[in-house]
Amino acid sequence: MTRVHNFSAGPAALPESVLQQAAAEMLDWRGSGMGVMEMSHRGPQFTQIAAEAESLLRELLQAPPNYKLLFMQGGALAENAIVPMNMLRGRASADYIDTGEWSKKSAQEARRYGGVNIAASGAGSGYTAIPARETWQLDPQAAYVHICSNETIGGLEYHFTPDVGEVPLVADMSSSILSRPVDVSKYGLIYGGAQKNIGPAGLTLVIVREDLLGQALPCTPTAFNYQVVADNGSMYNTPPTYAIYIAGLVFNWIKAQGGLAAMEQHNAAKAALLYGALDASDFYSTPVARECRSRMNVTFRLPDERLDAAFLKGAEARGLVQLKGHRVVGGMRASLYNAMPLAGVQALVDWLREFEKTQG
Ligand SMILES: *Cc1c(COP(=O)(O)O)cnc(C)c1O
Repeated sequence: MTRVHNFSAGPAALPESVLQQAAAEMLDWRGSGMGVMEMSHRGPQFTQIAAEAESLLRELLQAPPNYKLLFMQGGALAENAIVPMNMLRGRASADYIDTGEWSKKSAQEARRYGGVNIAASGAGSGYTAIPARETWQLDPQAAYVHICSNETIGGLEYHFTPDVGEVPLVADMSSSILSRPVDVSKYGLIYGGAQKNIGPAGLTLVIVREDLLGQALPCTPTAFNYQVVADNGSMYNTPPTYAIYIAGLVFNWIKAQGGLAAMEQHNAAKAALLYGALDASDFYSTPVARECRSRMNVTFRLPDERLDAAFLKGAEARGLVQLKGHRVVGGMRASLYNAMPLAGVQALVDWLREFEKTQG
């Protein structure tokens, strides 16, 4: 068996030890005589699996007790609707910060349910920078302020938590959650699909402050009403059981690595190695302003897009896969989520240097 270095933006690489444990437990989970996929979600075994996953997640995030951790389905795109349905709470509109493809999609979807005020936009810079907090035109009456903590496609990340006063801050953290410590108490709500940094697709995490629950729009599907989901311990309907199980194994793995502070160190080191190599070369270019560079998704370009195919082919021959950038922005993108080892980034840096030499 040969495993590649997988730079996919998502679904993405998982820690090998997690996959091995899942494989070992596939047919018989800890003497139960069943695999996790075959268990009732209300049975004693799965109840334990879900409770452990939730408590590990709470511990990793150091989430205060007045926050509910919900295991949902539908991904971040479904949350783009579910958030306004639950969070408008009788107010006329919400503020959105437009920093690229994902936050644009969030704002578009929210318009179906209420008013949307684009309080700041990076469109003018071609989405190469996050608008400075001082320039945001926030509405003090807004239901919430929505940000995308890490724009997976453009490769931009907030390296600060914006202060938005009393208005709840809502963040799409699909591609940065658990990559670094986060002060949950500064947010009203955090959401994200699991398939980037947490586990398999199909699971969506929602972390929400309790006092914001209970005012969903009447049109809200019951299964997507946060209050209902919270009251039923994320088991109003059948949750994505296998994805929750794998997420629990990943939470355990993160804890064993030293938690989110250790993850941040590891991720900062990987990003520094790759950006350092790109900066040291005149051949490659990086579009994003330095202070907004994502540690999770590194976007870069070759001097001529006609070289892209040869670059990708050579990378693949070296076991470095899924480096092609998103079709909207082109170029290359290396996603360096928690499970990407430093050795993978070093192998990519070696290939960057080698390819440049053959072209130079
Ligand atoms: C991947 C991604 C999405 C889309 O998530 P789905 O799970 O496909 O709905 C939304 N936002 C961000 C920031 C993402 O990285």
